Amino acid sequence: MNDRLVELIRNCLAIDQMGVRAYSIFSRTNSLVNLAPLFAQMAEDEKEHVRCWRNILPLAESGAIPVMIDNPGKVLTYTIFCRETLEKEIDALPDIVSPYDALILAYRLEMTMLNPAFETFFSYFAILEPEKAIDYDTHLHRFIEVLAEPNREQELRLFAETIGILWAETQELARKNHFDALTGVLNRAGMLRAMESSAFLAQRTGSHAAVLMIDVDHFKRINDTHGHKTGDEVLIRIASVLQGAVRKSDLLGRLGGEEFAAFLCPVEETEILHIAEKLRKAVEKSGVGSISATVSIGGASSGIDSTPQTILAKLLREADQRLYIAKNKGRNRCIVEG
Ligand code: GH3
Ligand code: MG
Ligand code: MG
Repeated sequence: MNDRLVELIRNCLAIDQMGVRAYSIFSRTNSLVNLAPLFAQMAEDEKEHVRCWRNILPLAESGAIPVMIDNPGKVLTYTIFCRETLEKEIDALPDIVSPYDALILAYRLEMTMLNPAFETFFSYFAILEPEKAIDYDTHLHRFIEVLAEPNREQELRLFAETIGILWAETQELARKNHFDALTGVLNRAGMLRAMESSAFLAQRTGSHAAVLMIDVDHFKRINDTHGHKTGDEVLIRIASVLQGAVRKSDLLGRLGGEEFAAFLCPVEETEILHIAEKLRKAVEKSGVGSISATVSIGGASSGIDSTPQTILAKLLREADQRLYIAKNKGRNRCIVEG
């Protein structure tokens, strides 16, 4: 069990519970009648966030969630600070709350989550369970819009501006850390973390998982013949073809250079060769102008019945060895066993 991660999730849960409480009270406060629809909606959103943290907490407590943020200790310190500040502010709220006081408190609550660490958290859960994703963007923009209304105090409008800029930067930072700038698929770090998260979930559900290592054949020749820029276009095209060929629940990443990986989970063991062939043929059929490219694929699969990290490492190693064999046997082929 990772104590700091559990502690972090508990704090996030507590903060969002404060959000539910404060926004619900505000939505029923006479002096805030004009803001009632906003606060009622924000209270509903926070209930969703609370549900999400409540789902995650027992998983983290049982050690079933990898630490997917870079510096959990630092994020934890910041989150504890926010929680304590908010508790004091909520306790000290006057009996008659002005719209100004209410919006300032909401600003404090919303600022807490403006950290790339949480964006990373939410984006992973969005990858793993798309139907349960938290739509923090809509939630925050609803608030920013009201804060920025022309009749508001100047400082509130300035807060709206800064929180909007900070949110955009936060998203950008989280994106850069985990997605490949050229092709838009997960980068190496993002892929490894997402695979780990997915493998932990697979262990709980007893699902079977597979890794496919996908390497472009004679890519150096494409670069040498048509130039590096065209080579880049070929990589973008291949990434998009692969992304279109895997299922939504699968993960696709660019591990480096002209090498991609797909993580299929859950998957039927008997289907893996068929899926690998589907990817290989999709790339073979596509092209950039008259330039076509092929890929070789090595695959490996396993149930996730013991330590997910160990199984993942084994799958990556086996898939890599089979990719090497596929290259030696003449390329443009898939090997998923042996
Ligand atoms: P093989 O079939 O054995 O995989 O041959 P290959 O030519 O694909 O493999 P090799 O590892 O010899 O060459 C890979 C080439 O990929 C070399 C490198 O310059 C090129 N490459 C790596 N990253 C990029 C990139 O981002 N853009 C472009 N255009 N080329 C890249
Ligand atoms: Mg290659
Ligand atoms: Mg290579």
